[in-house]
Amino acid sequence: MGVDYTAYAVLGVKFSYEEFMKPFKRIEETRCCKHSEQKAKFCPECGKPMWKERDMSPDLYEIEEEFEKYGLEIVTDTDSYNVYVGMSTKKEAESYRDKGEAFKVVDDTDVLLRHLEARLFKKGLWSEEIASRFGLWAVMYCSY
Ligand SMILES: [Zn+2]
Repeated sequence: MGVDYTAYAVLGVKFSYEEFMKPFKRIEETRCCKHSEQKAKFCPECGKPMWKERDMSPDLYEIEEEFEKYGLEIVTDTDSYNVYVGMSTKKEAESYRDKGEAFKVVDDTDVLLRHLEARLFKKGLWSEEIASRFGLWAVMYCSY
């Protein structure tokens, strides 16, 4: 046990959690008691409301399984603020100091962008055009 770090490279689309979950929302009307149904707001026998709304929405794990069938992965960030759908590759690390692999957790992409700018400007390798290329890239290396 402990803290595990996993880095994903996702090739796909990003949603806010609320935005993504919207179409899966399912509210069902269910009876509040076991007495026979009447055309009344409250049960004449026990006084409980006749009907109540129940959230029958699937959780993200169920949706994940559904998407898996179509070869699509769902990745969320810490605390599920965002949902990424597509194809992904991941890398796990024991800690921030894991030297086993070239791996670093980036919390703020702006910090990384400024860092790149500072580094590359000195080499004459920085311009607005180059800055606009900043994003997630997936590279496939083929050796044959
Ligand atoms: Zn009742």
